[in-house]
Amino acid sequence: MEFLRPATWDEALVAMAEHPGALPVSGGTDVMVELNFDLRRPSAILDLNRVGELTEWSTDGSSVRLGAAVPYARIIDELSVPLPGLALAARTVGSPQIRNRGSVGGNLGAASPAGDAHPALLAAGRGVRVEAHSVRGVRLIPIDEFYLGVKRHCLAPDELIRAVRIPVADGPQQFSKVGTRNAMVIAVCAFALALHPADRTVGTGLGSAAPTPRRAARAEAYLADALAWESGDPPDPEAVRRFGELVAAAADPIDDVRGTAAYRRHALAVLARRTLAWCWSDYREQLGRTA
Ligand SMILES: Cc1cc2nc3c(=O)[nH]c(=O)nc-3n(C[C@H](O)[C@H](O)[C@H](O)COP(=O)(O)OP(=O)(O)OC[C@H]3O[C@@H](n4cnc5c(N)ncnc54)[C@H](O)[C@@H]3O)c2cc1C
Repeated sequence: MEFLRPATWDEALVAMAEHPGALPVSGGTDVMVELNFDLRRPSAILDLNRVGELTEWSTDGSSVRLGAAVPYARIIDELSVPLPGLALAARTVGSPQIRNRGSVGGNLGAASPAGDAHPALLAAGRGVRVEAHSVRGVRLIPIDEFYLGVKRHCLAPDELIRAVRIPVADGPQQFSKVGTRNAMVIAVCAFALALHPADRTVGTGLGSAAPTPRRAARAEAYLADALAWESGDPPDPEAVRRFGELVAAAADPIDDVRGTAAYRRHALAVLARRTLAWCWSDYREQLGRTA
């Protein structure tokens, strides 16, 4: 197995072009497990840890360009205001050690339906783009088009993720996850909700609920119509119930060791109602309404 260690981003892209079977490694929290258990035997490993710009983020005020290798711990510390949903999701990932190494670029690269960054990225808005680079150029991939199947994404063999572009939150965002314990756990299911008061739309993201992370489009449209954006009045209980039902209906879960499909649907409806209550309470506070 060849070990490639580019010093710059350009060198990394050339290495990927010359070694299409190379496996990129960033934090290594997925890759090293796969190698240790002999689940993968790549012809080459491409270590991205010397490419400093992958661990940087920047913002122009309307969106954040998040370097692929910025670890979860820094997302929590530095980006909780512009990206509250993603920061909340990051808090639930693994343990402090995993959060110090693991990254959103790695979560995308693994494309597991259980990855915790995905629901938050989907909910953050249709403007989220994965920045994929190769020696052939740059592609900005809409997040909805990134996931193709279980642990499959749309990157070409010579492409690397440079960054993810995420709109700055224009309203409350929440993330909630069900696991068999409180930490170090793969989600049984997860749900992210974002309210977008600027255009009065709603974003959702479902995790561990289908072959790929997905949004609940009908639930989003229903809730956007049902919410009293102007007054901030609490949503009708029947509308809250219906929202939960539509979120559950968007799922296509499986029975496995972590939970049954029926349980996952039930839990998603609960998470949807709960995150809506949290988001709406935050929204009312922003409007200056109390109680
Ligand atoms: C103990 C433990 C607990 C965990 N808990 C959670 C959890 O709670 N929630 C969760 O979502 N995940 C969890 N994980 C999985 C893992 O930590 C995450 O998926 C993490 O986001 C991976 O990031 P990384 O930088 O370590 O990726 P790596 O392991 O370096 O890479 C992961 C995949 O992405 C590819 N890749 C990496 N960088 C790039 C790039 N720039 N361009 C293209 N492809 C790239 C790699 O080739 C590989 O296929 C856990 C893992 C462990 C070991």
